[in-house]
Amino acid sequence: LFLSFEGIDGVGKSTQVEMLREHLTHLGRDVVVTREPGGTPVGRQLRSLLLEGSPDGAEIGPRAEALMFAADRAQHVHQIIRPALSRGSVVISDRYIDSSLAYQAGGRELTVGDVRTLSMWATDALLPARTYLLDLDPAGALERIGRAPDRMESAGARFRQRTRDEFLDLARADPERFVVLDARRSVEDLASEIRRDVDGLLDD
Ligand code: C5P
Repeated sequence: LFLSFEGIDGVGKSTQVEMLREHLTHLGRDVVVTREPGGTPVGRQLRSLLLEGSPDGAEIGPRAEALMFAADRAQHVHQIIRPALSRGSVVISDRYIDSSLAYQAGGRELTVGDVRTLSMWATDALLPARTYLLDLDPAGALERIGRAPDRMESAGARFRQRTRDEFLDLARADPERFVVLDARRSVEDLASEIRRDVDGLLDD
């Protein structure tokens, strides 16, 4: 079973990922928790380039950025996700394809179709069975980060708004895969809804 968590920075994805990991471990499931960008050693090098920027301070162009995220994802699927799924593990990824659609297409204004084609090629069309989208308005999310923003996070308010809107559009277009959750709800309340949904998927 492959699950992903999505949403703009500061919505509480990593907390929910950890709570779900605990739940599944209690059920005796083998769980692999992973993340993008940076789920593999190759990905971690790409992640530091993406977060810190080009060593010479030059702007990383939107197409180069999209290709770096796609390369990170390709290696992530190849090295971590597919092998874990083959072993029968539950894989939980903190971000996946939809982040590229929301950030590189919605945010950076590349074409959604292009970014999707790139990602589907990079992953050989591997999609999660379920994607939990934690939704929060960008101002509220920024407040919750609680530290100085990195290069990607420091993009402007309009960028964050486009990214959030794109996530919501993606969810509306694929209601079977997405569960949209209001991130203002309490951590425990969100976790229990997610647990119920995952338990249902495991019973199927
Ligand atoms: O979620 P995490 O903090 O690990 O993501 C690192 C940064 O990369 C975040 O600031 C996020 O906004 C950005 N990002 C992005 N495009 C993606 C995935 C993440 O711009 N496809």
